[in-house]
Parts: sequence; structure tokens; C-alpha cells
Amino acid sequence: MASTASTSSVPEEELTLMVKWSGKEYTVRVCGDDTVGELKRRICELTNVLPLRQKLLYPKVGSKLTDDSLLLSQLPLKSSIKMTMIGTTEEDLIVDPVDSPEIIDDFELGQEEAVDIKDKEVNKQKLKRRINNYKIVLKTPCRKGKKLLVLDIDYTLFDHRSTAENPLELMRPYLHEFLTSVYSEYDIMIWSATSMKWIDLKMGQLGVLDNPNYKITALLDHLAMITVQSSSRGVFDCKPLGLIWAQFPEFYNASNTIMFDDLRRNFVMNPQNGLIIKPFRKAHANRESDRELVKLTQYLLAIAELDDLSNLDHSSWEFFTEENAKRLRHT
Ligand SMILES: [Mg+2]
Repeated sequence: MASTASTSSVPEEELTLMVKWSGKEYTVRVCGDDTVGELKRRICELTNVLPLRQKLLYPKVGSKLTDDSLLLSQLPLKSSIKMTMIGTTEEDLIVDPVDSPEIIDDFELGQEEAVDIKDKEVNKQKLKRRINNYKIVLKTPCRKGKKLLVLDIDYTLFDHRSTAENPLELMRPYLHEFLTSVYSEYDIMIWSATSMKWIDLKMGQLGVLDNPNYKITALLDHLAMITVQSSSRGVFDCKPLGLIWAQFPEFYNASNTIMFDDLRRNFVMNPQNGLIIKPFRKAHANRESDRELVKLTQYLLAIAELDDLSNLDHSSWEFFTEENAKRLRHT
């Protein structure tokens, strides 16, 4: 007779599923506390078919496999069952991803709920698994003594919803100037909730990957994210910085890392490290006036002088920059 206490301390059961796609069979390992969305992400790793383009078929489960937020433990799945996936890869993807995962507006989680998510054992376990199965590939070595800046792409560096003949028209103004300036104090990683293929393509087109004035330390894609559950907002994906800290502990940690994203929920596993950037939308109308990256350069360079960033409240970054500028004028 198993007590409830011992059941809950047992690690979530691992499931090994077979997925048939395009005449081949793939083995996918997931856990009961993974969602259908995560299963699709694992399948994407093997097949390159983006989760949004996958249709999963398994007779006994029916339409439930279309609900990405369902936990696999809620479905009648057993190890070694075979399901079929229908979907096409982004081989023909030259312009833009048709479906971007970030179409949901930002939402605020209550303070308590956010703390709860960060400290939940199940989420710590998910992070641990992600640390083990996602290896960050360095494009250039980490530099001792530098802080770390992690940047989102969509609406942060680039307006992915507008169209233009030349992608440079959709680039946030002053991007190269910004990256050049902050590179003196920060290693730079780019983390987007899309596929690595798209990140590579887009950053390449913008001239970010071969710029003579700065280097990008690493790129991270949607496979590095974890799915967490909130009581008020259901299931959503986030970008846990702990993944980076665990893989490069001699360089980066909670006291020297800052992350820019236009979506607050992406920070939920490390709220203190996140700075919510004003989204860069409607590039054609806003290209002339958007100076966020100029102002943020000043902030990043000002706080770079601090040994420890973990006492800062990034939500008042504009105030900090003003105060700092005033102080400098008076000395
Ligand atoms: Mg974004």
C-alpha cells in the first residue's frame, strides 16, 4: 500500500512513445507532467516540424492531442504506443514563420502566484530535465568578468508581424549601435520562442551574426523553454535563465544576468532578472521615433559598474537612467 507522500516523491513517470512521420519512426521520451505542447516540441527536435504544424493522431486519444495545455498524465497513454504525426517542415521558409507562437498578449500574474511558480518542485524538475537535454552551443567563448545580456527577438529586436521588402526595415532602430556599445560590458545571448532555423535566418539577415563590432555568444530557441502551469492563466511557456547558469556557472549567475523581453511571463522562473521592453510594433510607423535601445544602452552601461545586479528593480529602469544622468551632471 503506497502512501500519498511516497507517491508524490516518486519522479514523474517517463513515457517512451513511438511517433510515425513521413515513413519513419521516431522514439520520443517525455514525462507525465509534460504537456501535449512539450511532446510536440520533442517531436520537433527529431523531425524539424514546428509544433504549430503538427497534427498528432492516436485513436484512443482523439481530439485531446490538439490541446497543447493538457498534461500527458491526463491522457490514456502508455509507454511504447505508436502515434502518427502529420505535418510539414519549414524547408520552404524564406520569408517569415506563418504562425508565431507569441500571438497571445502579455498578462500579469499576481506576485504570489509568480513566486509560487518559481518555487514549485515540479518546475524545478522540469528545469533540471531541460538542463540535461538542451545543450547550449557557444558561437564564441564566454568572457571572464563580463555580465550577461539575454535578448528576445520578436517585438524586442524585430517587428515580425509587419512585412517589408527588406527585413532591415523591420529591425528595431539602433540595434547594431546598441549591441556594439553593450558588448564592452556584456556577453550577449539571443533567445527566441521560435525555431533555431528562423533565429539563424533572421539574425543573419539583420547582420547580427557576423558584425565586426560585437559577437553573439549563443543562440537559444523554443526547445530551451519550459512549460509551467499557473492557476489563473493555465499553461504557458517561459525562458528559465537557470538553464544558462547551470551550463556556464563560472561565468553567469543570478547576480550578473539581465534579460530583455516584451512578455513578462517569459521571466516567471527568474522575475528579478527580467526587464520588460516596450514592444517594437508597426515598424513602418515607429521606425523614426523608437529610441528604446538608445535609452537602454545608457541603463546597461550604468548598471554594469555594479558588482551585483540582483538588488535592482528593472521595472524602474528609466528612472534609474535619469537619476544617474543627473548625478553625473552634478559631479
Ligand atoms: Mg517577444
